[in-house]
Amino acid sequence: MLVFVKDKTVDRNSQDKDIKSGLTFPSGCVYSDAMKFQSIRGVNDILPGEIEAVQRLEEAARSVFESFGFSEIRIPIFEVTELFARGIGATTDIVEKEMYTFDDRDGKKITLRPEGTAPVVRAYIEHQLNLKAPVTKLYYLGPMFRHERPQAGRFRQFYQIGVEALGTDRPTMDVEVLAMLMAVFQNVGVTEVRLEINSLGDAACRPHYRKTLKAYFKTHLAQFCEDCQRRYETNPMRILDCKKEGCRAVAAKAPSPLDHLCAECLAHFQQVKDGLNRLKIPFVVNEHLVRGLDYYTRTAFEITTTKLGAQNAVAAGGRYDGLVEELGGPPTPGIGFAMGVERIASLMEGIETPRPDVFFALLGEEAVRQMLPVIVRLRGHGVRVEMDYSGGGLKKQMGLADKLGARYTLMVGENELKSGKAILRDMATKAQEEILLTTLPDPLMKIIRS
Ligand SMILES: [Zn+2]
Ligand SMILES: [Zn+2]
Repeated sequence: MLVFVKDKTVDRNSQDKDIKSGLTFPSGCVYSDAMKFQSIRGVNDILPGEIEAVQRLEEAARSVFESFGFSEIRIPIFEVTELFARGIGATTDIVEKEMYTFDDRDGKKITLRPEGTAPVVRAYIEHQLNLKAPVTKLYYLGPMFRHERPQAGRFRQFYQIGVEALGTDRPTMDVEVLAMLMAVFQNVGVTEVRLEINSLGDAACRPHYRKTLKAYFKTHLAQFCEDCQRRYETNPMRILDCKKEGCRAVAAKAPSPLDHLCAECLAHFQQVKDGLNRLKIPFVVNEHLVRGLDYYTRTAFEITTTKLGAQNAVAAGGRYDGLVEELGGPPTPGIGFAMGVERIASLMEGIETPRPDVFFALLGEEAVRQMLPVIVRLRGHGVRVEMDYSGGGLKKQMGLADKLGARYTLMVGENELKSGKAILRDMATKAQEEILLTTLPDPLMKIIRS
């Protein structure tokens, strides 16, 4: 319900006391006695009916990741700002324009995490996980925060599921991580997706490619959008995946990073492709695929779908062999990805809102009193049981059972208590049968499980 309250809205400037409630409001707080609250623009509630797909995706991800030997890590929602400035790159859109950054009460610069990789790497270094195993395989899930334009159909609090594998630069790990990502899509029945891969080179060959690229771009500077004018100096590879038309025309004829790979990077890329072929995972090479983040090396990839219009990337990731060292740890190669939960959930079909196995239509206090222990025992066995809490009549209760989509309804009123027999109704076939009250819940459980 959208309600805007215009009258009685007061702007209180100093630490002001509401005389009635005695509450203290921070200075500058605008409030009203009858304020109706709404979520902040771009920040959404995920309601029952929508959450089931998200839960199903999270379950699938956990189960697939754990079968590949990945363990969950819970990272904090906020970190010191410097971590993201260094870890993501000071010249990226995220750091330049999109981070939620504020001073906390001690004057420390804090940022709500815009992505998960930098915090995971921070934790890896801080807890010296490199000493515990040669390769550390972690996954995370939770909200991320970016101040993006809401009209672009993006959320400012959005959810990601991601993995990071730290400690090996072997192409086998690239293949494993990609196989794992595809397995999650398979598991949730989202099959109309396309895997695009590329190689961005490494410290040995990328500087040379960058130089070649800049030389080519230099002759087309006038055609670039404002962002790309700036990127030309700070991060020219990003121009390759600019979505603006003028930039795309120039990028289409740009030299390819694949033509500038050193022998090691070329061999690595070839082995990744061979591995995917052996596992029969279809992919296409997209030479214009670059990641927005500075620390990516060699393998970069994206999962795209045509089903969501222009916003077509649903997962993305790549190798970041320089990041751990950049954040103060020992030189450690790594690779990972993040999946966009809302976008993938919106592609999932046939997700049903859970419905009750059985609805107890209980008439009168005595029926409630006698049936509660039965309900508790059923629930203890994992049976979904619903009941009426309003004290309505049988017709009203049957209506509720229908509305909730209950498979069965068990009716117990005064007559049933007297005769010692409840009536069980199959809500789909309307067939009814009697069940001895003293035998509950066993026969009921048998019918529900059959
Ligand atoms: Zn551009
Ligand atoms: Zn190289």
